[in-house]
Amino acid sequence: MQKSQQLFEQAQKHIPGGVNSPVRAFKAVGGTPPFIVKADGPYIYDADGKQYIDYVQSWGPMVLGHNNPKIRQAVIEAAENGLSFGAPTESEVSMAELVNKLVPSMEMLRMVNSGTEATMSAIRLARGATGKNKILKFEGCYHGHADSLLVKAGSGALTMGVPSSPGVPADVAKHTLTMEFNNIDSVKKAFAEFGDDIACIIVEPVAGNMNCIPPVDGFLQGLRDICDQYQSILIFDEVMTGFRVSRGGAQELYSITPDLTCLGKVIGGGMPVGAFGGKAEIMQQLAPTGPVYQAGTLSGNPIAMAAGLASLTQIQKPGLYERISLATKTLAEGIKAIALEHGVPMTVNYAGSMFGIFFTDIEKVTNYQQAINCDTEMFNRFFHSMLSKGVYLAPASYEAGFVSAMHDLEIVEKTLDITKQVFAEITA
Ligand code: PMP
Repeated sequence: MQKSQQLFEQAQKHIPGGVNSPVRAFKAVGGTPPFIVKADGPYIYDADGKQYIDYVQSWGPMVLGHNNPKIRQAVIEAAENGLSFGAPTESEVSMAELVNKLVPSMEMLRMVNSGTEATMSAIRLARGATGKNKILKFEGCYHGHADSLLVKAGSGALTMGVPSSPGVPADVAKHTLTMEFNNIDSVKKAFAEFGDDIACIIVEPVAGNMNCIPPVDGFLQGLRDICDQYQSILIFDEVMTGFRVSRGGAQELYSITPDLTCLGKVIGGGMPVGAFGGKAEIMQQLAPTGPVYQAGTLSGNPIAMAAGLASLTQIQKPGLYERISLATKTLAEGIKAIALEHGVPMTVNYAGSMFGIFFTDIEKVTNYQQAINCDTEMFNRFFHSMLSKGVYLAPASYEAGFVSAMHDLEIVEKTLDITKQVFAEITA
């Protein structure tokens, strides 16, 4: 860790916390983050030459594994023609058609540059299209860092939201209602009181920012029904789940059709990309066809489109998702079995190639309060021991893990062998 340590100290002089996105700083688990120099398949390599099996996968986008040769080649070829034109290109048309083929509810879509931009724009569009002010989101879901989304529940279940970060005006936060994930009754109550003024519900259909929490039976359908009843817009934030929990995202996995979908990460194959889209009649409210303003100088960037097209083309390979899902299940169930053998209570959740490990004796974790009540001290010990033995997990107990197509069963077995050593060490 010598080189990483030195870089981390240097980084903190000119970058707040030494990082360009907070969770990378290892604040939750303590210690020095390895500085990464390259990645390939299931592995990442740090500045000190150490190899890790990577279960973060750049926080989701690398469904095909790192440094996929076809994506790399597509990027190199596109770069030969220039990096940005600020004018329409054929690759944007191909991308829109391909996304629509894979996620049919996205009849029309707009490319943006991050997940944050996708959700922020989708919410403006929902408000613009409905003429309503409030939005409803869920405790523990993360939708990027736009002002109206950095909001937590007020003191009573049905009070107006309050900012969860300084810098978010209370006047903005008051329009955001925050309900309990997987609790449809709380949503019904909110709509009974404020339904006439709720523009949209935004939800991570499988929550991936409070560890991994899939929807309980009926939850997503309940949201669909309530939105239909009140003419509110249902937004699925599939920034994590899109092209990951299944080829067509969570909406395909659970057979629920949202009005708008937000995508990010995976759609760029590792480039900074996002997208939002949905029903044509709603999307046509956007400028220049409609009055709701949204724009982006680098949106639909040719290099990003080339990477995305190469990524989305390859994910169509038959059997790919079945294979990654099996690897994920084998890994999650394997870790749980080892923990239980060592007398450590654990439960696991997984959906497609997302998984969550919870150090808890609760049988099934379904909401934020349960997720944050897990044994974080035990997780931190587990995390550091795995890291020292060459397995890179998300550096916080409330983050989901990701498996790629390059994590074959051999890599999973290798991880489980290391896990056995880790539990022997941390329970000794
Ligand atoms: N929505 C979800 C579900 C996310 O997980 C994230 C990022 N982790 C975002 C939105 C924001 O995306 P970005 O970091 O690209 O702005």
